[in-house]
Amino acid sequence: STALVWLRNDLRLADNPALHAAAKNHQKVVALYVHEEAPGLRPIGAAARWWLHQSLESIARDLAEIGVTLEVHAGKPEAVLRAALKGHDAETVYWNRRYGPAERELDAGIKQALKSDGFSVESMPGNVLIEPWLIQTGQDKPYSVFTPFWKNLRTMDIAAPLPAPKGKSSRFRPVDADYEEPHWAGKLGQYWSIGETAAQERLTTFLDESVVDYPEGRDFPAKDVTSRLSPHLRFGEISPRQIWHTAQAFLHAHHSKAGPVDKFLSELAWRDFSYHQLYHRPNIAEIPMQEKYSSLRWRHAPAQLRAWEKGKTGIPIVDAGLRELWETGYMHNRVRMLVASFLTKNLLIDWREGERWFWDCLVDADEANNPASWQWVAGCGLDAAPYFRIFNPVTQGERFDGSGDFVRRWVPEIAALPDKFIHAPADAPQDILAKADIAIGSTYPRPIADLKQTRQRALDAYGAVSAQA
Ligand code: FAD
Repeated sequence: STALVWLRNDLRLADNPALHAAAKNHQKVVALYVHEEAPGLRPIGAAARWWLHQSLESIARDLAEIGVTLEVHAGKPEAVLRAALKGHDAETVYWNRRYGPAERELDAGIKQALKSDGFSVESMPGNVLIEPWLIQTGQDKPYSVFTPFWKNLRTMDIAAPLPAPKGKSSRFRPVDADYEEPHWAGKLGQYWSIGETAAQERLTTFLDESVVDYPEGRDFPAKDVTSRLSPHLRFGEISPRQIWHTAQAFLHAHHSKAGPVDKFLSELAWRDFSYHQLYHRPNIAEIPMQEKYSSLRWRHAPAQLRAWEKGKTGIPIVDAGLRELWETGYMHNRVRMLVASFLTKNLLIDWREGERWFWDCLVDADEANNPASWQWVAGCGLDAAPYFRIFNPVTQGERFDGSGDFVRRWVPEIAALPDKFIHAPADAPQDILAKADIAIGSTYPRPIADLKQTRQRALDAYGAVSAQA
């Protein structure tokens, strides 16, 4: 018999439960990817769309090696699935679950409709460490705080990854022919290798070379010690279960690295925590998880928003991060926090504006991690830091990019400044600026916000909301 596998955010052969089950139970397997047109689904951002295209090409080649064809379609998923079931004379569809409210509703509807027409549909777990409804507090409630979530998660049995199915190779046909690469995308390619093999290599290199430095080094953007697995995870080129078990095996062989590996896995668990929130809360990209923040009066400041997006705020570490994002489709975690704090606190601009910009520019733009992290920084998330802890991007820059390497890399027009002024060029004496060939306000912007005054403004605005019950 023939089965269909509907691929979504799981573009891998190994540890792919849907593909594994289809290959085990049927003689022939056809894989489908659908550029979905369905109400309520969030359209994928531009940088992620670029990644997706390459990732589909990559998995199509890998699937051909085991005799599975990948068909890429666009349209309403139910109609595409029905046509494919008919066209291939197939009776069963397999897929791995997704967790967003709109996707769940869509998938449940398709499942019901196909079943009532006599087809069988199998949905499987595979994209998180633990299904969001299988982990709960002692009171049988969803978690709202990370630490107890992690304490519980780390004691649970994380299912062992499944092997990739085997099969005889077949001819590879290029897929996704309609995709036109946008003119800006050429620059992204130099920073990334895409696909399942690249993801596995990245994990191995990270464990071998960087994990020891991870706990200390992960906050320093100029040090390249984090795994950069996020876009691979976003598209499921690697599964969190594979990362978990590979890290455990590594730990077995290198006992001395227990601390660093544990720290790394706890960060990976934040991803599951975001999915936990996505699953249990309504529309986290739009609705503040702490409801009272719906009444916060955000500023309407389009020119400042634009300066932020373009990395022209006059605050070097903020500008460096936003330019890194524009150039590479990625931003270092510490800097993500700083730019998000600057937007939502100093500029008092709605976190949803920043979330949308990230959504369009990040290659790892993730439906759970992105809104949950924005809410966390903006202070309206569940486990958010207290609102009165407002980052000062200048002192943060001095602390985490003391030698200014990160700033110099992305903001070359101020590179000649001595370290002492690299994070606050506008404070440098005139002769030093002249020597470095910098004219504040013309070669580099004057800060668009006074950090002290805007800090107070944020305290007032947030304080008014926070006082509400
Ligand atoms: P590593 O430090 O090597 O961590 C390994 C993996 O663990 C990551 O790939 C990621 O899946 C997970 N992880 C690590 N830190 C976090 C975290 N704080 N929250 C959730 N998961 C985490 N991450 C995304 O994957 N997609 C997003 O769209 C996204 N948007 C963000 C927006 C803001 C404002 C902030 C502050 C953070 C955001 N993050 C997002 C979380 C984090 O910045 C990235 O996951 C991380 O920088 C990716 O780099 P890495 O793979 O080298 O991370």
